Formats: sequence, structure tokens, C-alpha cells
Amino acid sequence: MTESECRAAIAAEREAWGERLLILGHHYQDSAVTALCDAVGDSLELSRLAAASRAERIVFCGVRFMAETADILARGPEGGENGRSVWLPAPKAGCPMADMAGAEALEAAWARLTEADPKAAWAPVVYVNSTAEVKAFCGAHGGAACTSGNARRVLGRFLGEGRKVFFAPDQHLCANTARQLGLPAEAVALWRRALPDGGLVPQRIRAARLVAWDGCCPIHAGYTPGDVVAARAAHPDAALLIHPEAPTGVTALAEEMGSTKAIIEAVSRAEPGARLLIGTEDHLVRRLAADHPELAIRPLRPIVCQDMGRTTPEALLRVLREWPEETLVRVPDALIPPAHACVRRMLALG
Ligand code: SF4
Repeated sequence: MTESECRAAIAAEREAWGERLLILGHHYQDSAVTALCDAVGDSLELSRLAAASRAERIVFCGVRFMAETADILARGPEGGENGRSVWLPAPKAGCPMADMAGAEALEAAWARLTEADPKAAWAPVVYVNSTAEVKAFCGAHGGAACTSGNARRVLGRFLGEGRKVFFAPDQHLCANTARQLGLPAEAVALWRRALPDGGLVPQRIRAARLVAWDGCCPIHAGYTPGDVVAARAAHPDAALLIHPEAPTGVTALAEEMGSTKAIIEAVSRAEPGARLLIGTEDHLVRRLAADHPELAIRPLRPIVCQDMGRTTPEALLRVLREWPEETLVRVPDALIPPAHACVRRMLALG
């Protein structure tokens, strides 16, 4: 089948399903895939769309935690069967960062933290880039999810209420957000998975306002200050826009830091002729460069998420025609109520 035959076949299936189907795509998908989606967005936008949708079937061109979040929202606060389902065209598309935090390990760390500082009003906050089990852990302990688009608002709300926050899994999003909120370095402690008790003595836990799990996005965490030096040497007047999953030593050198949505908005506001270096996944950077020929857009250094790249138009067509069992994403019923509470609290905070 040629590319154009594949696109035409997808369009025909799409039309036949009408409003009973919603095809969502993340900004990091290849342009050949985003062109076939009903809506393209970042995790926060897509969560909102999944929550608002009444479609019977949601097909998620992204990675597993995103499809799980859509399933959690589509199934409602109680879970169970409501005739709605979520499908992931590339069933092996996972997220190495989400895999760095298991619910059991987080429960053990939570027990240790709350035991070390029992008088504190602890709350967990989990990045939406986490498994359904981790969201259920968070919801069961009264916490909320966040995305890179609203981490400042969510963390700011909990800290502003005098809560002490255990954040997982992304240490860099946590550190960047803490810096935006003006927290001093000593207020943030890092829980190191490989060390007994996270490598934190009780005094350090009591002194911290924020404890971060030591996970990261291996794609964004690979940026170094040397990348910025090299890119600025090649493009001296370019402004750097960077994603908050990058380390603080790199984000501190940027003109602007923000979620994929914030980066896209900053590009749209740029004056014609502006030179921009963009520090995020390369599918998005290449699309922005193609969509904005009036700007000089370059990657800080090209970085590609292989999991995001697993979805292809052919895989999407296969789902729409055959609905293979292995592409159905079904969060276990028992996890839905606490996981739904975790995501719902995030959406309520904006
Ligand atoms: S870009 Fe990073 S956080 Fe996003 S899916 Fe890939 S590995 Fe996970």
C-alpha cells in the first residue's frame, strides 16, 4: 500500500466512525501521524480532550501512559464498563521515565518519609508521565498529577497550603519548578532509588519542603551546558527555548523554559527573521521549522524519543480496521477510582 493509499484508507475509516471516534496525537509524533489526528496537543491538552470527549473509542497516537490517562478519564470516577475504550496503535510505545518509578517503591519511600517527619502534612504529586499504578498511589494519598504545563500551579498550590510534597518521577521538572517557585536549594531533597532510605537521613527529610524521586526523561536529561555553548557558537543571536525535563544547569542558560505548548506559543509570537534554538524532541522541532519558514529554527541538539516514533500511519490504519486486542489499553478496575481522583484533582487545579 502506498502512503497516499494508506492516508485515504484512514480517512475512509475515520469518516465511517464519525463522532464515535476520537484520534488524539502528541506533539512528539511524526508529522505523517499528526496530520491524521483529530487533535494534537501536549499531555495536559490531550487529557482535557479525553475528559471532555463522549467518543466511544479514543485512539491515542502517543505512548502508553497517555493512553492509560485517557482510559482513566474515559471510564469515569468509578471505573467499570461504560462502553468506552482507548487504543494505542503502537502497543510497545512506553516511556523510560515512567518505568523509573514503580508504585511499590514509591509506597515504601512514602512510608519512610512520613515516618521521618510525621508532623508534616505530606502530599504526593506525580508527573502525568507515570503509570496508572503510580497515579493510583498518588490519588489514594490525597495527591494530584501534573504536567510540564501546570507543574508550577499544582506544586505551588500544595506548597502554598503548607503541605510537604513528595514528587515523582522527574527530578528535573521538580528542580526547575522549585526554582520558578523561588524555593532555596536546601528546601529540595533528592530521593536516590539505589540507596537505602533514598540516601536521606531524617534531619534532611525534616528540613526539606519538597522531596524529588530521582527519575528523568533520558531524552531531555541528556542535554548539557556544552550543547548550549556549541549551539550558541554556531548561532550567536539565537534565543534558546527549552523543555523543563532538561537539567537545571541547562535550563538556567535558556531565554525561556516551558512545556511543548509553551514552546509552540513562543514560536508563534516570534518576529519574522527571529533565530530560535529549541531544546525538545526533534519531531516537534522539525515540524515547527517546516511550519515557520519565516523563522530560523534549529534544534539545540537533535534528540529523538524512539517510543514516540513507534506510531506509524500503517499502525493507525491497522487499529481502525482490525481493532487488535493487543492495542486495547485497559487500566484495571481497582486502580480507576484513586487514579481518577489523582488526575481529576490536576484538571480542577487548571
Ligand atoms: S520524551 Fe521522555 S518523557 Fe516523553 S515519552 Fe519519551 S522518554 Fe518518556
